[in-house]
Amino acid sequence: MRSATERRELLKAVYEEASGCTRCPLHQSRTTVVFGAGNADADLMFVGEAPGANEDRMGLPFVGQAGKLLDKLLGEIGLQRSSVFIANVLKCRPPQNRDPHPNEIDACQEYLRRQVDLIEPTVICTLGNFSTKLLRGDSTGISRLHGREEELVIGSRAVRLYPLYHPAAALYTPSMQQTLREDFARIPGLLELGPPPQPAPPEPMPEIEELVSESTVQLGLF
Ligand code: URA
Repeated sequence: MRSATERRELLKAVYEEASGCTRCPLHQSRTTVVFGAGNADADLMFVGEAPGANEDRMGLPFVGQAGKLLDKLLGEIGLQRSSVFIANVLKCRPPQNRDPHPNEIDACQEYLRRQVDLIEPTVICTLGNFSTKLLRGDSTGISRLHGREEELVIGSRAVRLYPLYHPAAALYTPSMQQTLREDFARIPGLLELGPPPQPAPPEPMPEIEELVSESTVQLGLF
């Protein structure tokens, strides 16, 4: 078991590493790596798609219009941005806000998995198709999945995954915004459930001396 302080320090180290990342070509066009922001020990985590122009300039996720809607929806369920953690599938902005490419997602996903492992959230809300497909490892689209919670193991951590429409998509479509608001209303109830049962920790590796002495006994040698 790692303490919240230990996990926070480890998350800072991942942040330092990501800040200079050159794993994919997006590092050439980015201004800032947008690692994610919020409470490093949050029960609730949001995962969007990728930084846009404002995020790239400021180094923070969801600072534009979609972020304002996210803040509003959080406020409506009695939460503030500072109590949750917000990250993206990609940490660098794709030029002209185009969709993330598979090679970029592949190169970047390890950062997101380490974030989940260290933050230990109870509920992860994926926002839109890219984060939902990545974390579920499946191509089912968001319109079929939004508002349905499922238990999922990500790395060593079992979480409640809760796919939602992306706030940027909901900005200009009132019916989608209404659906997003209704889906948001179920988040407090999911948080109250607490984390799902966690997978058993891996068996510790036997020391090499133990292996040697066991095989010596099995072979009848001393
Ligand atoms: N859209 C996203 O998916 N992420 C951001 O950080 C901003 C807009």
